[in-house]
Amino acid sequence: KVHVIGAGTMGGDIAAWCVACGMQASVQDLDEAQIGKALLRAKKLFKKRVRGKTAFDSAVARLIADPEGKHIKHADVIIEAVAERLDVKQKIFAELEDKAKPEAVLATNTSSLKLEEIAAPLKDPGRLVGVHFFNPVAQLPLVEVVRGEATREEEIGKACAFVTTINKLPLIVKSCPGFLVNRVLAPYMMEAVRLYREGQPREKLDQAALKFGMPIGPMELMDMVGLDICNKVGEELSLAPKGEGDGDNPLAGLVRQGKLGKKTGQGFYEWVDGKPKREDMDFSNTELTRVGEELLAPLLAEAARAEAEGVVADADHVDAGVIFGTGFAPFRGGPLHYTKTKDAAGADQAAA
Ligand code: NAD
Repeated sequence: KVHVIGAGTMGGDIAAWCVACGMQASVQDLDEAQIGKALLRAKKLFKKRVRGKTAFDSAVARLIADPEGKHIKHADVIIEAVAERLDVKQKIFAELEDKAKPEAVLATNTSSLKLEEIAAPLKDPGRLVGVHFFNPVAQLPLVEVVRGEATREEEIGKACAFVTTINKLPLIVKSCPGFLVNRVLAPYMMEAVRLYREGQPREKLDQAALKFGMPIGPMELMDMVGLDICNKVGEELSLAPKGEGDGDNPLAGLVRQGKLGKKTGQGFYEWVDGKPKREDMDFSNTELTRVGEELLAPLLAEAARAEAEGVVADADHVDAGVIFGTGFAPFRGGPLHYTKTKDAAGADQAAA
């Protein structure tokens, strides 16, 4: 039994996913309209993932609107997914600790707050673990399981078991800004913004990334994630292009103009019927390869730094995490493997 607090973009979809995987989930929100919207979105997911009318009806019945949190005391896993505010999250966990079963997993879906600070008001801070899902929940296979300084190993184990049970891949990460996936993605996106500011067409940047093997170009990706979210991540990791004017930092400029990407119909692209409107532009293969390498270089460098800092257990976890978390060209074997093979090929060429 799962209880999710916050029925917004993430919380609603996490609860629905858990139900689609056979669990019972209750969803709590201060705003009942949010719960209503989450239940409607869930039905669309069940239509795609659950076969047969009986199974569909059973899934609908297993997703419970619980505005007052009455199901907290029965839950085995409690996931907090309210807005990204430390005071709100702290209050929620302080209250949860007494209501939840002593063995229940207490988890936060925070993207950027320190686990240690969220856990500070708990009598037993060792209970809190991060389970960082990605948006859209139903499509992205990775969940970062975040180990705070105090988190007990047993809680990490329980969180990983839960993530596996809902058919996702758990990646244990250290509590640090951006964890692994956002940490390597952010410099790649900011490099795309920098190249765009220098006059590279958005179409070229997206085509170059696809040529490298990425599933989607960085400009389209930023529009889909939401430019406000990308800008915030860039600022938090101190990567946003410098300068105040819209020309100095086109990402912040678009956000100021209320152009937030797909959700507002305009970002780097104009979005019509859920698709970006692109100019027909042709570039040579050599140029796309060159720009692709330039775009990906900051991601490769950050992946190497994350390995050196022990954000995950070892190099294979970095490679697998970046492939499953970002869609990084799987045939290249992950960023560290790619760098190693490229360097080896370069050394061979130099020797020959
Ligand atoms: P959202 O704004 O869509 O939803 C937040 C919900 O929390 C709202 O429905 C709001 O009414 C509710 N809420 C606020 N205070 C509450 C309280 N005290 N009790 C109950 N409900 C309360 O936010 P979101 O995008 O779903 O993000 C939620 C969390 O997930 C954040 O910590 C965010 O950093 C993290 N996250 C977001 C994404 C993303 O792409 N949106 C990805 C990964 C993680």
